[in-house]
Parts: sequence; structure tokens; C-alpha cells
Amino acid sequence: MRSHYCGELNEQHEGQEVVLCGWAHRRRDHGGVIFIDLRDVQGIAQVVFDPDTEESFALAETVRSEFVLQVTGIVRLRPAGTANADMGTGRIEVLGKKLNILNAAKTPPFLLDEHSDVGEDVRLRYRYIDLRRPEMAERLRFRSKVSNSIRNFLDENGFLDIETPLLTKATPEGARDYLVPSRTHPGHFFALPQSPQLFKQILMVAGMDRYYQIAKCFRDEDLRADRQPEFTQIDIETSFMNEEQIMQMAESMIRKIFIKHLNVDLGDFPRMSFAEAMRRFGSDKPDLRLDLELVDIADLMKSVDFKVFNGPANDPASRVVALRVPDGGRLSRKEIDDYTKFVSKYGAKGLAWIKVNDIAAGLEGLQSPILKFMPEQVVQDVLARLQAQTGDVIFFGADKAKIVNDSIGALRLKVGADLGMVREAWAPLWVVDFPMFEEDGEGGLTPIHHPFTSASCTVEELEKDPANALSRAYDMVLNGTELGGGSIRINQPAMQQQVFRILGIDEAEAEEKFGFLLSALSYGCPPHGGLAFGLDRLIMLMTGATSIREVIAFPKTQSAACPLTDAPGIVATKQLRELNIQIRQAKTE
Ligand code: ASP
Repeated sequence: MRSHYCGELNEQHEGQEVVLCGWAHRRRDHGGVIFIDLRDVQGIAQVVFDPDTEESFALAETVRSEFVLQVTGIVRLRPAGTANADMGTGRIEVLGKKLNILNAAKTPPFLLDEHSDVGEDVRLRYRYIDLRRPEMAERLRFRSKVSNSIRNFLDENGFLDIETPLLTKATPEGARDYLVPSRTHPGHFFALPQSPQLFKQILMVAGMDRYYQIAKCFRDEDLRADRQPEFTQIDIETSFMNEEQIMQMAESMIRKIFIKHLNVDLGDFPRMSFAEAMRRFGSDKPDLRLDLELVDIADLMKSVDFKVFNGPANDPASRVVALRVPDGGRLSRKEIDDYTKFVSKYGAKGLAWIKVNDIAAGLEGLQSPILKFMPEQVVQDVLARLQAQTGDVIFFGADKAKIVNDSIGALRLKVGADLGMVREAWAPLWVVDFPMFEEDGEGGLTPIHHPFTSASCTVEELEKDPANALSRAYDMVLNGTELGGGSIRINQPAMQQQVFRILGIDEAEAEEKFGFLLSALSYGCPPHGGLAFGLDRLIMLMTGATSIREVIAFPKTQSAACPLTDAPGIVATKQLRELNIQIRQAKTE
């Protein structure tokens, strides 16, 4: 139907007759001539109809936004002074000879360049219009190209692309399952996979050696800007490789992708232990583009007569930290109050601070509501440890370690962003030496990764001191976002059973839920490990998008619904009956 794409035309086509197909991006009537910006997947070309071509001109007058058109015309240079340097095709225009309206369109709910005036809900409901925006189309094109490079890299390195089932049993990755009722087994349910974890391990037992899959995963959890109920992982597993080799391989894949698609060499990724990341940044995914760090000061606060500090300072499960913000002295009282509210969302009961107005002036040079509670020597020791300078503000966190890490870790990021302290850079790293478990808040332990992650100690050591055992897990972090993570897996039934015991999963339950895995481990399971990357997050970071919804063709809303199709929906009673399901309380909205 066409001879050229709109976006590919330039001066070299001058004088040629072309046939273009696309959408009417904009139509303008200008003193007797009609301009139509015709848009297709590659870009926009300006088409001009003048009254000489009577029939087409008349037709052009009826064209409205987003009509689908076929235009035959001659490429010519734009008259001097009317070239548009912002447009790829800005030096030429097409003198329209023949116009064919292929389809009309209703008035669109929003014009493409006015999308930001409408809510995201409207954009998602009319996603087919939203995706016509060149920016969105470009992101999907970029995503496709990156996926392709990933496939090529893995294929060249001997990985097999193997599909695993979507209708399966629960694989615990720490979220709720999406369940699918079985018609043929009344009262029984499939779970959609939270990840292909167990199947990829079983593929290793099956001798496949190297597996990958660009896989959909499903997790029913509360959504944030970088989470979706269904999302895509680059899922990888290998046999007979240790963590060092797996990290090298994964790092080289990500480096290659960045070089190829962004012309950025990320260099060698530094490594940091989980303990160091928590100590210095209060986070297991530290953003290293920002220099601010948490500094422990519990030892200095042990004997101050101020229970906000001395309580946590004397409790091994707590932390007392200071965060020095250079040039933060310019923050207003109101801004500091806002930060106090901000940290309270993470459970902090308050936010103590000291402004250093003049470091040379001793106590006189400081401003703070807490000075009266602290001996001068302690204040001086804190300032010395932080190497405080005139113009700083120092924030304090004192509470249970988790609250301090969460709140001051988040404050670090927020203040850093607000004060423009985050460098324009790419800051990748590996976080390693994670603990196996963390407290689940109910007196038990829960895995930090998943229960198939191997400990770096023996089964006996694990049994003796599970709370302090480290795992053979690793996470790749980029600019404060977890890009991916994985581990060396348990390949011995004894270690797997021990982990289940620690998690309070007794033998009967282990057998019922994971008997197939335990069985596979007992039939010659090689040492193996792998990792998975979040493809959506990777593309979000690479394209500079602010949410993963911007790089997914048909994402769900924050409430896990699809405005385009209106899913999830109500189903017919007959269907429910076939599934042996009765709705207890039909909630109608
Ligand atoms: N299955 C893990 C996840 O989804 C990744 C891995 O351990 O390979 O986070």
C-alpha cells in the first residue's frame, strides 16, 4: 500500500512520487492550503494539499485527527525559511496529489501531544492511542531490540530457550499467588508461577546445562511504580558454575547490552556485602550515585542522658546513626518538618537534627532542638566522626535497626534527590553475602531470597545458627534499583530439608508442596545456580522512564486492574458452577 515510511523521507527523495500511509497527526488550514502531518511508525511527514487538486483538497478538508490515510504525492523541499530542524523530515514536504481516506476516527479522547493532561487511567483505557505516541512507540521498539540482544547473547553462550508451564504449583518467592481453578479436578487450583524457579532447577537435574527464558511471572502483591502483578523476567540457570562464574557471565551480558544500545560502558561492577550496604546506606540496593552515608554513633550515645539515644545505643538489635548532609543547612524548618513526616512513614518516631552554622564557633555555632540533652563532648565527638563542616545539617536515627535502616536509608535518597546531589551516572554493583533468613515479625524466620538458595555453611552449621547463616546469593543493583538476583541453589536433599525445617515447614507439608523437588534432588542433581533480571525494570532504567508501566504495552493500574479490557471481570454463574465455585459474597461495584 505504500512506497515509503513517512519518517524516512528527506532531501534525497526530492522530486520523487511517494505513497504514504498513516494517521492524521494534525490538520491545519492555512490561507487556501491544507497541511496534514501524516504519522506512521517511523515518524511524521508534512503533506500539503492545494486547491488545484480539487477532489483531494475537498477530501482533505474532511480529515480529522487520527483518520487513517493513504496519500500519493511528490516530495519537494520546503520553501526557504520554513524548514523545521526539530523534525527528521523537517526539510521536505509532500505535495499531495491523491488522498484516500482508509478509515475515519472518532474524536480521540486526547490528542497525542496532550496526553499529560489526561489521567493515566484514560491513557490505559485507550492504550492503542497512547501507544501511537512516538515516545511510547520508541520505548517498545527499544525493548524489542534489547530482548533480541539478550536472546542472542544467551544463545551464543549455549543457553537453551525452554518454556515452562504457567499452570503450575505455587513457587514461593515471597508474594501471594494468583490461583486458577481446575475444572477437571474440582476444588483444586493451579497457581500461576511467581517465577519459573523450580522448573529451571529441574531442567538442571534433567541435564540441560544452560537454560534461559524471557518469562512472565505473577505476584499478587501491593503495587508500586516498579512493580506489576505480571511482569517479565530474563530467567537464567546453569549447572556446574559457581557464583563467581555466574556473576561474571551476567555482568558481561548487561555490559554488552549497555554498550550496544546506549553506548555506555558500565565497567567492572564493584562488590559489596549485604552487611556493608546496610551499614553505610541502610539498604540492600544502595544508590551509589549519591555520596551521603549513614554513620554509626551508638558507641558515643551509650551514656547520654537522653533516652531517645541511649535506649537504642544500648540495645544490640537497634542502631543509632547520623546522616551528614553537606549544604543541608539551607533547609527550612518547614522542609525539616516534612522530612520528619517522611521518616514517620517508615516507623521512625521523630527526626533529630543539628544545623552546623559555624563549625569554628563550637556549640555556639550549632542550631538544634537536641543540644540541651547532650554533653558538649559527645556533640564534639559526633561532629568529629562525621567531619562536619559549616553549612551541614546532620540528621539522626535511633531505633530498632530495621526502622533506622528503612527510614534513614529512604531519607538519604530523598534529601539527596531534593538537593540535587545525585550524580548523572550509571552506578552498578553486586550485593553479596546476604543472610539466609530474616525475622518474619512473628518470631520465625523467612528466606531473604527463596527457600531453594544454598547456605554458604554446612547443614550442621545452618542448623545450629540459622539466624546468622549467610547464603550464596547475589543481587545486581543499578542506580538504587534491584535489576536482578539469584543464587547457587541447594542440590542436596539434606540441606533442602534443613531449610524447610527452619522455615517451620514440617516433613508432611514439604512433601505435599515440594515433594517433586526433593525427589528430583535425590536423582543426581548437579551443583547449579542462576539468576533472573527484571526486564521491565531494565528497560525502564535504560530509557529513563519513571515507571515500569511506561515500558509495558498493556500494564495494569496500581490496583492491579486493566482499564482497557476491564479485567478482572465477573464470570457467568454457569462457568462458576463448572468450576465448583460459589461466590460467598458477590461484591458489586
Ligand atoms: N527465582 C528468583 C526470583 O524470581 C531468581 C533466581 O533466584 O534465579 O527472584
